[in-house]
Amino acid sequence: MATTINLDEHLLIGGSWIDATGGARFDVTDPATGNKVGSMPNGTEADVKAAIDAAAAALPGWRSTPAIQRARILRKAADLMRERAEEIATAMTSEQGKALAEAKGEVEYAASFFEWFAGEAERVYGEVVPPMNTNNRVLVLRQPVGVVAAITPWNFPAAMMTRKLGPAMAAGCTSVVKPASATPLTAALVLRCIEDAGAPAGVVNLVTSRDAGMVANTIFTDGRVKKISFTGSTEIGKDLIRASAEQVKRLSLELGGHAPYIIFDDADLDEAVEGLIASKYRNAGQTCVCANRAFVQRGVYDAFLAKLTAKVDAMKVGHGLAEGTVIGPLIDSRAVDKADEHVQDAVAKGAKLVTGGVRLTDGEFANGSFYAPTILDGVTKEMDIFYEETFGPVAGLTVFDTEDEVIELANDSIYGLASYFHTKDYARLMRVAERLEYGIVGANAGIISAANVPFGGVKQSGYGREGGSVGIDEYLDVKYVLMGGVGTV
Ligand code: NAP
Repeated sequence: MATTINLDEHLLIGGSWIDATGGARFDVTDPATGNKVGSMPNGTEADVKAAIDAAAAALPGWRSTPAIQRARILRKAADLMRERAEEIATAMTSEQGKALAEAKGEVEYAASFFEWFAGEAERVYGEVVPPMNTNNRVLVLRQPVGVVAAITPWNFPAAMMTRKLGPAMAAGCTSVVKPASATPLTAALVLRCIEDAGAPAGVVNLVTSRDAGMVANTIFTDGRVKKISFTGSTEIGKDLIRASAEQVKRLSLELGGHAPYIIFDDADLDEAVEGLIASKYRNAGQTCVCANRAFVQRGVYDAFLAKLTAKVDAMKVGHGLAEGTVIGPLIDSRAVDKADEHVQDAVAKGAKLVTGGVRLTDGEFANGSFYAPTILDGVTKEMDIFYEETFGPVAGLTVFDTEDEVIELANDSIYGLASYFHTKDYARLMRVAERLEYGIVGANAGIISAANVPFGGVKQSGYGREGGSVGIDEYLDVKYVLMGGVGTV
């Protein structure tokens, strides 16, 4: 097995890698072993303010840097991430737990946002609008919003950050980043790529802290920060909506999900099994787009369950750096508790445990946060798992008979991020895609994330879109300019 890292990183403020004011640090641990893998400065209010100072000072120079030059820096940052993929992925697995192959995949995915938004930087076009009065001329400009704050989660420590920094940098904004305190080392390594790619001092700043509330409060009460982009839980997202009211700050919110995964009778069952596995068990079930409820039509239910069980039983659980590992640890013991609570609740209310359903605590698992990949048969609306995001490797199956019935079941959620279904009937494909109340629909596909598509949710999954041609709009203000007295031609 490759060895975990031991990395003591720093804050990045105004181009300098520094310690926190007062010098306090916090440990970063490996969720597979509980061992320390590094440390980060425990940033203070003074550090957050210094980071905002640096971003504000860098703004005039960065927003007036030609877009083509900003794009070059983004492309170079993507190249550096790829060159350093092994190092970044090893750090990610060490602090987050995901299997190394998945971590490498995330580094590539994260780099692709820099590349995509390098292209978008060069296409921030305005408009010339035909005037109502022919003596006038009307222009529409798209300008950077200014200083941006990005708050990111631990489950995709690189990609959730580049999905914000890419468009922010492309648009001409400067940023302060606050990564999750469980996974700050990956964040530091990605920011080193941006810096080494030639981003001027202060264009991106990194503040880590164990006191996320303090960081948020400092950001929300500073008038120089014009926009906050947050990816994390719906609960914290709601707090941020309330906090944004005081200064009417712009927000983008990528919050929780609770994806339905529907398999119709006419689906290609092998493809559907592969799709559900990719969606459900990736990152040990800790993604916002993970399937959390699988609805299988009665005619194929037993066959689907048998195929799925065979695949899940073959999954190797272990340290993410160990050869062949598919399922790594969960992020911490609370995450294991939640997965187990969902399983126990479902079983108590009548679901059948097909496989898994246990904490793994023996031998190599003794000091880690491991939960066996699990399948529940016969999930109903009475069970917590039907309505709550599990964020663990637990698939719950529910049988259905008709299209109308499954649409109603699938839409019965406060969340609206990702949804999936499998069918070979093209008319149904269009109908179901239109009727699912979700921001993302995967039809005959279990992996839906990419830099070139608009990613985001409806309902309590948040608002705003990241990626795609609209992703940069979140970092631009639209301004209309009326030029009177020009005359007619
Ligand atoms: P979280 O607890 O909400 O944390 C997310 C970030 O917010 C972390 O940086 C965290 O810092 C910070 N934070 C904590 N308390 C805060 C506060 N009072 N004010 C401001 N920021 C605060 O979420 P998580 O457990 O890390 O991530 C899992 C959640 O994210 C799931 O619900 C998942 O569905 C969602 N998610 C959504 C998407 C999407 O694109 N829609 C993508 C990935 C994940 P600390 O780490 O220091 O506490």
